[in-house]
Amino acid sequence: MKNKMEVPFFRFSHGDSELENIRAVLDSGWLTTGKFTAEFERRFAERCGTKFALAVNSCTAAMHLLLEANDIQPGDKVVVPSLTFTATAEVIRYLGADPVFVDVDAATGLMTGELLADALKANEGIRACLVVHLAGQSAELSGENGIRAVCEAQGIRLFQDAAHAFPAADDYGPVGSIGDGTCFSFYANKTITTGEGGMVVLNDEHVARRIRIMRLHGIDRDVWDRFTSNSASWYYDVVAPGFKYNMPDLNAAVGVAQLDRAGAYRDARQALAERYMEQLGDLDSIRFFGSRVAREQHAWHLIPIILAADAAVDRDDLCARLREDGIGTSVHYRPLHQMTYYKERYGLRSEDFPNTEAIWRGCLSLPLFPSMTTDEVDYVCSRIRAHMG
Ligand SMILES: *Cc1c(COP(=O)(O)O)cnc(C)c1O
Repeated sequence: MKNKMEVPFFRFSHGDSELENIRAVLDSGWLTTGKFTAEFERRFAERCGTKFALAVNSCTAAMHLLLEANDIQPGDKVVVPSLTFTATAEVIRYLGADPVFVDVDAATGLMTGELLADALKANEGIRACLVVHLAGQSAELSGENGIRAVCEAQGIRLFQDAAHAFPAADDYGPVGSIGDGTCFSFYANKTITTGEGGMVVLNDEHVARRIRIMRLHGIDRDVWDRFTSNSASWYYDVVAPGFKYNMPDLNAAVGVAQLDRAGAYRDARQALAERYMEQLGDLDSIRFFGSRVAREQHAWHLIPIILAADAAVDRDDLCARLREDGIGTSVHYRPLHQMTYYKERYGLRSEDFPNTEAIWRGCLSLPLFPSMTTDEVDYVCSRIRAHMG
């Protein structure tokens, strides 16, 4: 047996330019939203193929602003998968609207046009859906039976939680390039990071303008404008009770540098994910998510395995044993229909989410990060093989 190694679930990677950019921000004396944020937005919009990219301090803030700017109100309903992080649904509640939870496809863990259509048949008042590109693989938007076709036929908005999906693509181009607004996360363990941060990309000028105002106190000019243009900095107007969601330049400085590395990091994660699939692919007791996009289009944020119901060990056991082996893992996700708040408020029942339940019972996300070595992957795989026998 190999010597014990320590393999964390995630390890942050960076290079020199992150440090150089941070130094430039500190030396400039301008630490809040400024020119690094503007550059980060410009380059992010270019990568996503959208007219606008608006940087904020989290993906949660991005989703809140996107829904607010689209006038989602009390009484409205927004469709979300149950298999996601609570942020996806909580932002709907911020506005007094209600999430409608749906099951996911058994093979991919993703929402589908068919599941969305079923929710539309069963509920009145649905105004939008908020699709989650789980693990970094995009859900099927385009195509005859895709989510976009259903949204267009029913006249509802198509929003995306792409916290896992940068950089990712689909047959229509980069994730974020279609639909009514897509939100990304730069949280500490996401594919690229600013520590905390988020971005919303979209093409509608009116909605973009509302988001720009609401991310900074409902003021009609942003801070940078106020301090760089000729008119007095105190001369601004408040048009709504906005939020404090702007991204500081200190964070954007890291984001700009990470953006340069996003492609290389993605490629590294793909190679590691392929090695996992090669080494574990023959085990009957586990499976990987089925893939609906080409490997090159996947962001490979996560590599979940799903244990078969009759496997020799269950998920919690395997997780504990791997921890003893020095290996960090995580679970994405305990579904929202099981969480006290949503379960009680909406009277949710597990039997209405059979695929989500099956994934939840068996899923375990393995370590995957760009600086991971092939030796580390091999160690994780050998320990899994030993435990799954
Ligand atoms: C991380 C994450 C979020 C929240 O992102 P923040 O930037 O931390 O607000 C939302 N949805 C999903 C699916 C996530 O993984």
